[in-house]
Amino acid sequence: MAGDARVDLALVPDPERRARAMAHALGYAISHLATEPPEPIRGRLGALRHALDALGDADADEGAALPQIARACRAAIPGARLSIRRRFPADQRAPRWPASMRSGAPSEAGHGVWPYDAELAGLLLGRRRLLLREALSEARAEADVAWLAAHGVATRAVDASDPGGSKRIYGSLDASMLEEAAAMHAAACREHDGWARAALWMGDALGYPKCCAEVFARARKRDDVTMFLELLPPLPHAPASPLTVWLDGALALVSHAPCSLGCAASVDLAGALLGELERRTPGFAAKWRALAKRIHAVTADGRVFAIAAEGDLVTDGAVRVVDAIELVPPVNEDGAVVKGAEAIRPGDELRVERGWLVGPAKSEWTGTFVADHRGGDA
Ligand SMILES: [Zn+2]
Repeated sequence: MAGDARVDLALVPDPERRARAMAHALGYAISHLATEPPEPIRGRLGALRHALDALGDADADEGAALPQIARACRAAIPGARLSIRRRFPADQRAPRWPASMRSGAPSEAGHGVWPYDAELAGLLLGRRRLLLREALSEARAEADVAWLAAHGVATRAVDASDPGGSKRIYGSLDASMLEEAAAMHAAACREHDGWARAALWMGDALGYPKCCAEVFARARKRDDVTMFLELLPPLPHAPASPLTVWLDGALALVSHAPCSLGCAASVDLAGALLGELERRTPGFAAKWRALAKRIHAVTADGRVFAIAAEGDLVTDGAVRVVDAIELVPPVNEDGAVVKGAEAIRPGDELRVERGWLVGPAKSEWTGTFVADHRGGDA
């Protein structure tokens, strides 16, 4: 931080210098997260890299290394201060939710909410012009194309170039835009000068609020963990509306990362999508809300928990669990599996520590990325 200008730096332990980074110093790989940090920081990045590299590799623990890194920042950028915003495990994993959870009508029986297609609802409401998803198998792709066609959606399926995604499906009520959408998406995925413009075009077509799309287009890396780092405030933070749930992709209504948990444009969009899903499948909103209006936590190994709890993380620094469930990505079927959270139980106290949510000692449970969605009106 220098004056009002701020840049988020990621310091990742990397004594072997394996990671690509702006600089390596004292056993850390150090990178900035934004592609274009604000001035005066931007113009001093070369000096910063030089100052950090000059620290060398001397073995230093965190307590000794951080003051040296802070001094190097100050030497390179006059007036700069280094503060720790949040900690995350170096091997943090992001949960992976299959796109098949988003391609279908909500179940009308029981308490399952999956699959539910908030993206189709967005198309039908005119809140987006395009939808984009990936199918892991030909059969899944065919089922999704048929589901979309039944609602008047034109599709274009393209073989994904990256391993793991077998088919990419572009869908729109306007078939004439699909070719351009595929070309723009390819441009947005490549690292070259035009990618930010292509990303903004995609964000607009996909109905992402401008405030959120601009943050996304600024980010240097766009993987999930980097987005969590940039956009999720560490604990404690005040409860937000369940409408902005995105850390827990199994329950997200929006398909973008909101620029903040309180983003008004995202709340407005999600509220409209929830209304449309409820209109098409009465009862959906209540079933969704029972799962979404909770504290959502991701552990270091990418497991996802939704926790109903009493207490205020800001004033109490702790909550008492009323009901905790784990959401498990499906392997073969559509619906996510909801099961009891074995590690944490009703009555357990979860405490805020180092920006994380920490369970009772015996549980060894820690939520490293946490979003409190018990607020708002939804
Ligand atoms: Zn926003």
